[in-house]
Amino acid sequence: MLSDNNGFVGKVFIFTAPSGAGKTTIVKHLLSKYNFLGFSVSATTRTRREYEVEGKDYYFLSIEEFKSKATAGEFIEWEEVYENQFYGTLKSEVARIWGEKKHLVFDIDVKGAENIKRVFGDKCMSVFVRPPSVDTLIQRLINRNTETPESLIKRINKIKREMTFENSFDIVLVNDLLEVSFVEAEHIVETFIYGLPIQ
Ligand code: 5GP
Repeated sequence: MLSDNNGFVGKVFIFTAPSGAGKTTIVKHLLSKYNFLGFSVSATTRTRREYEVEGKDYYFLSIEEFKSKATAGEFIEWEEVYENQFYGTLKSEVARIWGEKKHLVFDIDVKGAENIKRVFGDKCMSVFVRPPSVDTLIQRLINRNTETPESLIKRINKIKREMTFENSFDIVLVNDLLEVSFVEAEHIVETFIYGLPIQ
């Protein structure tokens, strides 16, 4: 189903986190540093946001297209994240990145991360990025001043729920000082690719 290309053994990195923990910044850093990493672009049925680019941020599909691909077994995993908003990773995306002899990188929430991890098993290194404390994350959210009291409570509850997933992944990266996290993330990537144990 997901074959390697001409002897290239493609690996998989998953970066997951409670929302706001800074995983995307870490993933962007890794992608800019290592050209042997390829970002896995998901497919979705949600509407494209103005700044998003087809094929770069997501593959935007209609619900009919998504469902017919799901029925045809074209996804390695998919989920209805919100009502009638489907998200998933196409097998063709994995083939594209491994075909370029790159290792796959996922930046995905905890539920999606669990799905991906199940599919790839020990080809995969899953990293849970967490803030130094829940309070730090909540404080960052409050400082941003983007939420109503109701949505703030919803988001805080979501963060608390997501924090309980920490032990479901291979390694926890505490994102306190970004520069330090970058170095730790580089160490995780290099160690997994070159097959040495993580210390
Ligand atoms: P957004 O609409 O904000 O870009 O993403 C909404 C949620 O969908 C996020 O929590 C994100 O992690 C999740 N998501 C994005 N791509 C995938 C995917 O390929 N599979 C699954 N299961 N979830 C995804």
